Amino acid sequence: MPIYRDSGFPLSNAEQMGEAFALEPLHKREPDHYIYSRYRNPTVVAAEEEIMKAEGCKWALLTQSGMAAVDVAVSIFQRGSATRPWLFFTEIYGGTISFLDSVLIARRGIKLERFAPSGQKYDLKKLEILLMKLKPELVYFETISNPMLIVADGPAVIKLCKSLGIKTIIDNTFATPILWKPLESGADLVIHSATKYFSGHGNLTAGVICGNDEELMREAIAYRKFVGHMISPDDAYRLNTQILTFGLRFPQQCSNALKLARLLDSNSLIEKVWYPGLETHETHQTAKELFESKGYGAMVTFSFGGSGNDEKRSRRDDFIENISDKIHLVPTLGDPHTIIMPVEPVWGHKYPDPGMIRVSVGFEPFEELVSTVTAALKRLKK
Ligand code: PLP
Repeated sequence: MPIYRDSGFPLSNAEQMGEAFALEPLHKREPDHYIYSRYRNPTVVAAEEEIMKAEGCKWALLTQSGMAAVDVAVSIFQRGSATRPWLFFTEIYGGTISFLDSVLIARRGIKLERFAPSGQKYDLKKLEILLMKLKPELVYFETISNPMLIVADGPAVIKLCKSLGIKTIIDNTFATPILWKPLESGADLVIHSATKYFSGHGNLTAGVICGNDEELMREAIAYRKFVGHMISPDDAYRLNTQILTFGLRFPQQCSNALKLARLLDSNSLIEKVWYPGLETHETHQTAKELFESKGYGAMVTFSFGGSGNDEKRSRRDDFIENISDKIHLVPTLGDPHTIIMPVEPVWGHKYPDPGMIRVSVGFEPFEELVSTVTAALKRLKK
């Protein structure tokens, strides 16, 4: 696929230009005439087709970031001062939480409610009671939450919402369509930070909204155009190439993650490991049924034990120091190499355990990963 870097596209004559502008608001998935790259671009449409294959959906629209995809997905349900509230699960990406607080509530005045897990599991009975009471316009959740990796019983949530006429938007970034395809269970929209596993190399920022409903597609195309949430053709081109290896990369990352989680779990200095593939995780059974043994994701969170917070924190910091020449502290996920993030300095009071580290597991050979991690653990003071 060539990279069409043009901002505008040539049209043959005044009549064709008239036709192009007249047809444009009809928003076909692939336009009859390309007009302007903020509206549509052939390189972007080609990359969207690769996402459609991965997600198994009728349309996909790329945006310049995952946050732009979140904005498009929720904003198309906003009609003036909406009277029905929107319901968001509390266990969602921190940037999305900031968007809710600083934009949706503070600037747009959306009435917004939240649903928290009970312990480290979602209680569907409680959700049902809340939905009956609130009758929200939409429900928004992540398939696997961050950083506690709580797996939602997606099909059950969607079924419940459908029975009450509530729309569902699912951020499937952590699970990816390899583990679960929410649209097959009847979700209205799925979004991804394509910065992560779809692009998979830590070298571009992108987002995508996927769906099957034509009317929602037209609204999303229009909104993306109005606010300018379009991905650049260069990023779309690289995504188009890099997504071709997604089906090889992600299963290898999941396999590495499961083995790493077991390794960490067997270390006496580590107090707890959160990974949905471990039987000790509260949502292991849900993950097993939902993901049908295809994997449990490529994120692992663990926490160093210690006699008090100071010891836990110093073990965390020594581990980070010991491993720093091989595994870097990078605040993203889905990269080719394993990267880590201490939880306390990033999430603060939400997850105050000072020993906690979140790991984004890469697709390097497991032997390499195991020797690096084992060496760093061995150098810690007992
Ligand atoms: N959703 C999830 C689950 C994320 O982890 C992130 C970013 O980390 C986003 C959305 C936002 O994506 P982006 O950083 O590409 O805007």
